[in-house]
Amino acid sequence: MSSEPQVKIRTHAHKDYKSSYKPVWCAGCGDYGVLNALTKSLAALEIPTEQVALIAGIGCSSRLPAYTRAYGFHGVHGRALPVAAGLAISRPELTVIAVGGDGDGFSIGGNHFIHACRRNANFSYLVMDNAVYGMTKGQASPTTESDWTGSKLAPQGTHQPPFQPLEMALAAGAPFIARAFSNAPNELAQIISEAIKFPGFAFVQILSPCVTFRPEQLNWKKQVHEAFTPTADKREAYLRLLDDDGIGTGILYRAPRPCFQPDTAAPRGLAEIASDFEVPA
Ligand code: SF4
Ligand code: MG
Repeated sequence: MSSEPQVKIRTHAHKDYKSSYKPVWCAGCGDYGVLNALTKSLAALEIPTEQVALIAGIGCSSRLPAYTRAYGFHGVHGRALPVAAGLAISRPELTVIAVGGDGDGFSIGGNHFIHACRRNANFSYLVMDNAVYGMTKGQASPTTESDWTGSKLAPQGTHQPPFQPLEMALAAGAPFIARAFSNAPNELAQIISEAIKFPGFAFVQILSPCVTFRPEQLNWKKQVHEAFTPTADKREAYLRLLDDDGIGTGILYRAPRPCFQPDTAAPRGLAEIASDFEVPA
């Protein structure tokens, strides 16, 4: 921990973690529930706002850092994870949380997802999954069902099996894996809190309906069910995923292991690096 004095906010109400910007999300978008649950979690954990860094890529859900009162980075499409990993490694006193959507995280940033799971730097990753590219008007994403015909670009469906985020995370070595639902605020806040407290890479797939391009996802409210209780047994977690219907929630897997630590030698200063390029007289 830093030896610098930490300034604590006066109260720990979740509104204190919200910025003055009004979200531009569509009315009823699941991402509102994620914003509320995240700020509730930060309030419950009493993490000072200046100790929180939210890192995002591009997409509707990647706007979330702007709506929070914390440090934020809204970067390049699909690249939230390497930024978050670098920050978590270089500033371990911070609470680093990467956020984004299914297109940003599993397609454009898919390779980063795999390596974040195996690298295990100490940060959380919240993916608001609505199985569609919402910001660009409704194209199929990696998690879209193969027979979804609502996209003008794939009017007969994608004919591809959807990406399985939990299976991928487990195979790639993520030590904390969970699924939650944006419209189940208490459970979602609880799972986000557990992810933030977890010492390592904590991945949470959050089913977050896109009411504009996937209005049928509002039925998730009737369908989601508690399916997982945490296990540290990887084989057991795989077996549970064999019966997974994609809308079961809970912490699937929790098995702490050592976090990635780079070479701890003091970083070289700019003057020292510049001297490498000096031409001898
Ligand atoms: Fe939410 Fe979909 Fe609207 Fe984007 S397009 S803000 S994901 S409802
Ligand atoms: Mg999406």
